[in-house]
Amino acid sequence: MIVQMPKIKYEYNWEAELKNSIQNIDELLNILNIEEQHRPVNTAKQAFTLRVPQSYIARMEKGNINDPLLQQVLPQDIELLQVPSFTPDPLQEKKYNILPGLLHKYYGRVLVMLSGSCAIHCRYCFRRNFPYEENTPGNKGLEKIIAYIEQHPEITEVILSGGDPLIAKDAYLNKIIETFSQIKSLITLRIHTRIPIVLPSRINDTLLQILHSSALKKVIVLHTNHPNELNTEVIHNLQRLQQANITLLNQSVFLKGINDCSQVLAALSHKLFQAGVLPYYIHRLDKVSGAAHFAISEYKAKSIMRHLLAHLPGYLVPKFVQESPGALSKTPITYV
Ligand SMILES: *Cc1c(COP(=O)(O)O)cnc(C)c1O
Ligand code: SF4
Repeated sequence: MIVQMPKIKYEYNWEAELKNSIQNIDELLNILNIEEQHRPVNTAKQAFTLRVPQSYIARMEKGNINDPLLQQVLPQDIELLQVPSFTPDPLQEKKYNILPGLLHKYYGRVLVMLSGSCAIHCRYCFRRNFPYEENTPGNKGLEKIIAYIEQHPEITEVILSGGDPLIAKDAYLNKIIETFSQIKSLITLRIHTRIPIVLPSRINDTLLQILHSSALKKVIVLHTNHPNELNTEVIHNLQRLQQANITLLNQSVFLKGINDCSQVLAALSHKLFQAGVLPYYIHRLDKVSGAAHFAISEYKAKSIMRHLLAHLPGYLVPKFVQESPGALSKTPITYV
């Protein structure tokens, strides 16, 4: 008699994977076989803790403390130095924070801070000092946000942001997206997320279904800083998003020791394009306290941009911008 093997549909459970993220520095450095003498001394406990999914760690090079992915997440004592002009709230977003969970800064589009947390903690993040949890809408807040959008028919695009909006569970996302899809004046739903890069298992069939079923135009703006972040699993899931008719764009941040090199950024643009993603923005680092050691000079950033412009097709050159308090849009930085 032939015994039939049961067919098991193997699907990662992203919530379990999220829970199993590494939050302890020694554990991370053990996984990576970083030798004792290369380990950073961590005297002070950081308010912004370590958090990194194992799938992201798997893309780091063993034994290399300078690995460009490790350096984005590893807490360092140097963060505790006070550096003039680096402040806790460099973007002064408070005045655009119309309602809990809603930022209306630029014409025609609003940003909804759907969740207070992220799947990864990036050391250079301008939200590292932000009271995340206090500024998400909740159910009551959502009604007010909808009323606000309906009273401002010039708003045609809602941007789900955070934190990372894809950390929300499928049922909640479904409800939110369905609700926004019913607002007549809206054309586009945009999602700003790093999760497809750092926790690719989150792109499950249910999520694809939820996005696909909305009649709004869909755009996902990813956040990738280095080509090593794009492995086979990530690229596969980006292709599935594309097949669901979602436009994929990417933003990066200039980071010292990670991507302050024209070869690295050119390779990132090419790899993104092969995965169906167009480079959108490259940001100058926001001057948030704790991130000064990631800053590169404006001179160097501009010379890298000139090199990219001279060596890439125009559609693979991201727009070099910075965030300026009070400006009507992100501010382009000229470099030629
Ligand atoms: C970046 C940003 C947007 C979107 O700007 P685009 O230039 O359209 O990408 C909207 N609202 C806020 C608060 C932002 O920071
Ligand atoms: S908001 Fe984006 S950059 Fe900041 S910690 Fe979260 S994932 Fe990283």
